[in-house]
Amino acid sequence: MKALVLMEPGRLVYKEWPLRQPDDNELLIKTEAATICTSDLNDIKYNPFGICTPMVMGHEGAGIVAAIGSKVQGFAIGDRVAAHPVMACGECQSCKRGLFHLCQNMNHLGINREGVFAEYFCVRADRVRKIPSFMDYGTASLMEPVSVCLEGVKRGNVKSGNRVLVIGDGPFGIITCQLLQTFSPVQIILIGRHWFRMKKAKGVYLIHEKECPDVNAQVMELTEGNGVDCAILCAGTSEAVNLAISCLRPRGTLSVFSAVPGMPGIDLFHVHVKELNICGSCNDENQLDQAIEFLSNRNLNLGNLITHRIPFPQWERAFALAEKGKDEALKVTLTFEEEMNL
Ligand SMILES: [Zn+2]
Ligand SMILES: [Zn+2]
Repeated sequence: MKALVLMEPGRLVYKEWPLRQPDDNELLIKTEAATICTSDLNDIKYNPFGICTPMVMGHEGAGIVAAIGSKVQGFAIGDRVAAHPVMACGECQSCKRGLFHLCQNMNHLGINREGVFAEYFCVRADRVRKIPSFMDYGTASLMEPVSVCLEGVKRGNVKSGNRVLVIGDGPFGIITCQLLQTFSPVQIILIGRHWFRMKKAKGVYLIHEKECPDVNAQVMELTEGNGVDCAILCAGTSEAVNLAISCLRPRGTLSVFSAVPGMPGIDLFHVHVKELNICGSCNDENQLDQAIEFLSNRNLNLGNLITHRIPFPQWERAFALAEKGKDEALKVTLTFEEEMNL
């Protein structure tokens, strides 16, 4: 089969790769859509998670069940499915505490297990969900990003009637804004730098960072001087962290969803005097079913966040768009045989 393989940091190659058969508890899935994640772009360049190269990349995938492990129940060949890339061991201390998403011996597609940027991939059956007949594979491939964004919102302790600030207009920021609608906050404010992307978030007050002379003052004015109950960090800079801290109300919560590289200087004085809560958020605590529910919700229209569907062999164009197309692209999906003919 053809696959996109990270040979070493900075070198992604489209090449022939052996097709593997599923283990007892796995499914072999014929890929129909595989979506590029911001973390793929970072992994390819810097490999922060220590991917064991050579490795087939990609972790946001959907397709058709092509083969079934001997111990798997509940799936049939031909089922249309979405896959979640994280597979917990079930035995380590984190797993025993019920925190499977923080497993200490985690298997992860595209990191230490062959990923979804390939014509076929294997994944443990308990990490797979069937998708409704009306859902296209591209939309289904968003199950994992929607799951993790949902976790970011939950870690932010968002409640109905809250004012919520989202910083960052990348795919995670926009998905987060859409998911927030279902938590019925009174106000959602998005701070970003690209109108094209920001306008994808509906029902949200938009602040363009470069065009607003004083972003903090603007947020304070919008919240009648109170600040926001929750800030969700979907941008990885220390400036964004400190902006969030300055915009939070006393005892507000910051959900650190984005990876902030280095050791950023943080305004701990205001964390102290406002008694703020700061929570990390990275993987999701099994939000697969809810993610499928949200992806099926026609009002949220999350599939609409896919701006480009590009045939797999043209992967270079897809990656260039995902990386540089901030004024024309949001989620970029690689499509395969069946999806291409839609
Ligand atoms: Zn992802
Ligand atoms: Zn574990």
